[in-house]
Amino acid sequence: MKGYNIRSSLEYNKKLREFLPGGTHYNFYHTEKEQPIHFVEAEGSRLWDMDGNEYLDLYGKSGALILGHKHPKYNESLIQTLSCATAVDLGRIEYEVCELICDAIPSAESVRFCLSGTEAIQNALRLARGYTGKQKFIRFIGHYHGNADNIMGGDVEIGDNRIPCENYAGTNSTRGRMEGVLEQQSFLLSWNNSVLLEEILREFHNQIAAVIMEPFSVNGGGIMPHVGYMEQVRALCDKYHVLLIYDEVVTGFRVDYGGAQKILSVKPDISVFGKCISGGSLPVSVIAASKDIMRLYEEKEVVHGGTFNGYSLGLAAVKATLEILNSDSKKYYDVMKKNAEKLHQIFLEEAKSERYPLTIQGHATCASFHCTETAIKTANEINENLYIKNKVLKSQLQSYGILTSLLSRMYVNITLADEDIVFFRNRVGYALADAKLILRRMKLI
Ligand code: PMP
Repeated sequence: MKGYNIRSSLEYNKKLREFLPGGTHYNFYHTEKEQPIHFVEAEGSRLWDMDGNEYLDLYGKSGALILGHKHPKYNESLIQTLSCATAVDLGRIEYEVCELICDAIPSAESVRFCLSGTEAIQNALRLARGYTGKQKFIRFIGHYHGNADNIMGGDVEIGDNRIPCENYAGTNSTRGRMEGVLEQQSFLLSWNNSVLLEEILREFHNQIAAVIMEPFSVNGGGIMPHVGYMEQVRALCDKYHVLLIYDEVVTGFRVDYGGAQKILSVKPDISVFGKCISGGSLPVSVIAASKDIMRLYEEKEVVHGGTFNGYSLGLAAVKATLEILNSDSKKYYDVMKKNAEKLHQIFLEEAKSERYPLTIQGHATCASFHCTETAIKTANEINENLYIKNKVLKSQLQSYGILTSLLSRMYVNITLADEDIVFFRNRVGYALADAKLILRRMKLI
């Protein structure tokens, strides 16, 4: 089998660059080095590009596409919503949607809606500051919470009280950031280290409003919390009167119906959902917390604004998504996990027979692959060398019709079936063989 010819996509993208910087909608990476593909059709777990090439979609709109493409019930409910009204401020869907969400999420008693994960995280931080009367927050290396100035990237010198600063070599570094904002607002710690967390909390708890984390470190490369860690974090937050925020933008409604907090026995004070919660086609994010915390919105002590908060089409998307998933949630999540594990097994077996170093880690439905012999334990291990190796493999997979996410993540959806696994099996070996040749040439393996 030969790698795909994507000439039409390349030509189209070249034209597009005249108006759209880099020909992409975001640029965490050097866009000229990417192979831009323009897609024209999709169904279930498959996509077709402008050149007629077929792909298995393990990118899934950066993890948002939990129902697969063109789920009939989902599409129908969006069309039906549009046939009633284009836009109203309050309709007759809110109660049902809020109830569905609060029933699903263990820590949720009350919710508010925003659009993006970035926006909901910023509002969650404002809420935590409003509630505690304190200013700073603790975050963790490798955890991503959106592209706002105060929380994206940064680097930290050990022994410097873990105060982050700009690191111009980092993926999430940027010019134009408000100077000093990283230093002023947060502490940046290694995750899965409760001793360090306690050290910082003991000294600075009077300044700290919240500890924010991805409960499963998906953006950090697929790292799960150590046994007992979350319990220790919860106890420390309680001891020092600091709110615990789970960023479930990826994990929510992907790892289980109700998010990672359904799997973990530890509940956060505030949690934030996005991506999957609205099925992948429309943006909706959710801030969920106890009534005690959310009362700050009721009494207007903390302001939450937004023209499109709770927009009808978005709420219809949430309702349809949750109703579909909840109609047989055990089956959907079990099957999704089993199918993901089958893909991983095949990937590892093919890598073994190619003598290609590969590990797959993290929760099966949002796992990461790494071109290493052994699993990584901290986000710091994703150095430049590993990053390039992962990127080369990602790009070779793409060339044989297997789309994964930018940071070597593989997002499955509920439509993934045996024929998709066969499609994967038939192609993955070619991608590994080509990646190996390229990396040998680059002297990276
Ligand atoms: N939190 C996490 C864990 C994410 O992965 C992302 C996006 N990848 C965000 C927040 C930001 O969400 P958005 O891109 O919708 O702003």
